Amino acid sequence: MCRHLGYLGPAVPVASLVHDPPHSLLHQSYAPRDMRGGGTVNVDGYGVGWYPAPGRAVRYRRVGTLWADENLAALSRVLVSPAVLAAVRSATVGMPVVETACAPFTDGQWLFSHNGRVTDWPGSVADLAKTLPTTDLLTLDAPTDSALLWALVRARLATTPPARAVADVVAEVAAAAPGSRLNLLLTNGSVLVGTTWTHSLWVRRADDAVTVSSEPLDDDPRWREVPEGHVVVADPSTVDVQPMGRR
Ligand code: GLN
Repeated sequence: MCRHLGYLGPAVPVASLVHDPPHSLLHQSYAPRDMRGGGTVNVDGYGVGWYPAPGRAVRYRRVGTLWADENLAALSRVLVSPAVLAAVRSATVGMPVVETACAPFTDGQWLFSHNGRVTDWPGSVADLAKTLPTTDLLTLDAPTDSALLWALVRARLATTPPARAVADVVAEVAAAAPGSRLNLLLTNGSVLVGTTWTHSLWVRRADDAVTVSSEPLDDDPRWREVPEGHVVVADPSTVDVQPMGRR
């Protein structure tokens, strides 16, 4: 299943997260250590989101393998940002391998990623999908579970704080589609929200920065594993980890 990461702190080159660490997202694309629920590598696509100015997210995503993109490897050395969200994709069986299915999904200041799958897609969540405005459904990025999850989260962000929006969607989808795997990751460049719902997630707070990642990027002893069924709300100075309630 996909791998993703988020970073908030002093501006750093994107490559310092995605390409350079010993167990970077690039390394996790071909040698992940903790894939659960099927899939062995993350070679169906990838994406990086960053902030050239506060509140303005920019996203680059491609279908295929991250290691083949030498242009991104070069750009990532000079692309410097105080906030990053990046992902590599292992497409769930039956879902299209297309650029528009790759995270991060974005809208305005928001960047979003999903690691997992919705059980019995799409029938299990048809009623939940009907709660969305028709225009949201007609403009889904791709016919995938992750794109629908992003639409459900985005619809709630207008009226609900980000951690609540993400936790509510996990609860509603888990109720409609038991057994779903729902590690979600969201940022607006100021706060990071991540969930653990049957996949791994680690957090490191160090040197005025916070990094949240499916797998630790290196051997730094400050990496902490987020327990199952929790939501992490983090900024560079605070990490809050709370249970989300049981399945
Ligand atoms: N189900 C999602 C997709 O197919 C995410 C897959 C994953 O986490 N491996 O894109």
